[in-house]
Amino acid sequence: MKSNVLIIYTGGTIGMVMDPKSHTFVPFDFKHLYQQVPELGKFDLNISVNSFDKPIDSSDMNIEDWVKIASTIKENYNDYDGFVVLHGTDTMAFTASALSFMLENLNKPVILTGAQLPIGVIRTDGKENLITAIEIAGAKQNNEPIVKEVAIYFEYKLYRGNRTHKYNAEHFDAFKSPNYPILAEAGIDIDYNYQALNKQVGGTLNVSSAMNCNIGVLKLFPGITPSLVKSIFSIDGIKAVIVETFGSGNGTTRKWFLDEIEQAVRNGVIVLNITQCNQGSVEQGRYATSIGLKNAGVIGGMDMTFEAAVTKLMYLLGNYSDIDEIKKLLQLNLRGEISC
Ligand code: ASP
Repeated sequence: MKSNVLIIYTGGTIGMVMDPKSHTFVPFDFKHLYQQVPELGKFDLNISVNSFDKPIDSSDMNIEDWVKIASTIKENYNDYDGFVVLHGTDTMAFTASALSFMLENLNKPVILTGAQLPIGVIRTDGKENLITAIEIAGAKQNNEPIVKEVAIYFEYKLYRGNRTHKYNAEHFDAFKSPNYPILAEAGIDIDYNYQALNKQVGGTLNVSSAMNCNIGVLKLFPGITPSLVKSIFSIDGIKAVIVETFGSGNGTTRKWFLDEIEQAVRNGVIVLNITQCNQGSVEQGRYATSIGLKNAGVIGGMDMTFEAAVTKLMYLLGNYSDIDEIKKLLQLNLRGEISC
């Protein structure tokens, strides 16, 4: 039986053209992309396309767009074996992380991909990315999809979506998964890392579209002022603040800073500690410079990426009202986003 794959085209460089007037890349109609890849016709798969009415640069991605992608997957879930989401690279790691939380009980592949060069450009990386992403989305073993999670395929590698980060704005090899092994590598064959792939989950697919955006981010730096810290915690309606700390979760031990954090926690704001380092984990209490944060009630984010932390908070705040339950779930591994 041939696999059925649905491509959801949201925009991004892969389908952009140069606007001769403004000399900038602007999104173009999907038909343009399809004509550029006649190889799609040679696949031993059934491919269908669903396109955003107005394709966007991924810097314009918003919650409504995530809901649109997740709902399209839900509506077509029983008719397709896998999904490919064509997306700009700039916020691809955020969308992949968000979808991993929004798509509860996912048991099919949702593969995000895009390109650093438009598909019409001779040296484009878009063709290989698109073709292999489709192959992975349609891949089965014993009549079961091999990949049962949200992943990013880029430059010969498949990554767990909520572990990725865009780290290079120029190279074709634009993504990294600093704290989790790659899920597959494409060479002559596609070599799957079965050990690292998600296992089957029970239940039927449910799309959770309630995402609460009332969160803030406080990136620490030497010399940070009390007024800046105060201003973040005084934002109207703020529910959670991600504090991006140094090293393994450290910050200044100045009294005004710890007092401010302690007061925010007492006021019911969830404070989540994420490291500014690209690799490694937060370990509150390892250094004296993180004990104050721990004692103030700050939650250690372990090795979560910034993208996963933002979207997990949005998802939990949108779906749970009990603050202690949210704090507990933040520290649990829900979709493979943290190492236990
Ligand atoms: N600005 C583009 C976007 O994220 C870049 C890309 O597609 O790679 O939509």
